Amino acid sequence: MLIIMKLDSTRQDIDKVMNKIASRNCVPHEIPGASKLGIGITGPTNLLIEEEFLGLDSVEEVIRVTKPYKLVSREMKPDDTIIDFEDTKIGGEELTMIAGPCSIESRQQLFDIAGELKEMGIKFLRAGAYKPRSSPYAFQGLKEKGLLYLSEVKKELGLKIVTEAKDTKSLPLISAVADIIQIGARNMQNFSLLEEVGQLPNAILLKRGMAATIEDLLMSAEYILSQGNFNVILCERGIRTFETMTRNTLDLNAVPMIKKHSHLPVIVDPSHGIGIWDKVQPMAMAAVACGADGLMIEVHNHPEQALSDGSQSLTPKNFKKLLEKIEQLAPIVERKINYYAQVN
Ligand code: PEP
Ligand code: MN
Repeated sequence: MLIIMKLDSTRQDIDKVMNKIASRNCVPHEIPGASKLGIGITGPTNLLIEEEFLGLDSVEEVIRVTKPYKLVSREMKPDDTIIDFEDTKIGGEELTMIAGPCSIESRQQLFDIAGELKEMGIKFLRAGAYKPRSSPYAFQGLKEKGLLYLSEVKKELGLKIVTEAKDTKSLPLISAVADIIQIGARNMQNFSLLEEVGQLPNAILLKRGMAATIEDLLMSAEYILSQGNFNVILCERGIRTFETMTRNTLDLNAVPMIKKHSHLPVIVDPSHGIGIWDKVQPMAMAAVACGADGLMIEVHNHPEQALSDGSQSLTPKNFKKLLEKIEQLAPIVERKINYYAQVN
């Protein structure tokens, strides 16, 4: 259920409604909109009576939310969510670029790649310290040492960090260094992990599970929002289909569908989506064309030596070419790129 407050309502009016909701064993969530304040309600809302709230002077409207997901839905919040990161934003008219290696392999490797990305104007560096690999024998990441290198690169180059949390145990360490905590495809329905990141101050990048529907993804995001963290970014990274020629099938249908049903920003990861480095650029362009709020691209300075996902990683030189293409495309879809490509 959603309560829309009148424009002139005071803090006292808002608190009165919030307290009334809490007294009925439901949870109120303040949802500031572009022009009006909404109060979203989760919990046993079937027990609430609309008239009780409509009787209050400060309440303009009471809306029943029909979707199984509530706080992530556009019914609850019609305006796009825009996440603020001091000098940049994700969502709205911004087009965000997140780039970096699949895994941190050494201090040198991380600094070399990060340095090249920084020169291109990239603000968000992705790099995994804890790697959820399909095989237990594959490289599992540098773990704490990787986080240390990330904190050093963040301090020295001023990049914002996107890195994955695999479990709840490592969350305090990851939370201290990450600007955005990634929840990977394999963990999309790890509900205890989702609830824990829902209580953190970091923004969360939630990747779609490889066999998850769009509704499953939205329900998983709901777990995070329901704990109070509204800074959630959804990520389409490809799903498993009968197709074997590509690593996954990048479901770009998801972008306009998510935009229709949710206010949350959507990032597309064409690297995992197609899994073939020289096909990443066309899929990145398609993602921007269909309304993605940004891209996440794997970049490695020596893809042939990479300890994970080398075959889908772009060299910095090829990544520059992709940036140039996206720069040409952005104005056509009325997007402002928040990095500056300097293509030689
Ligand atoms: C990754 O981003 O490197 C990764 C492991 O992604 P996914 O969870 O989408 O497979
Ligand atoms: Mn990867």
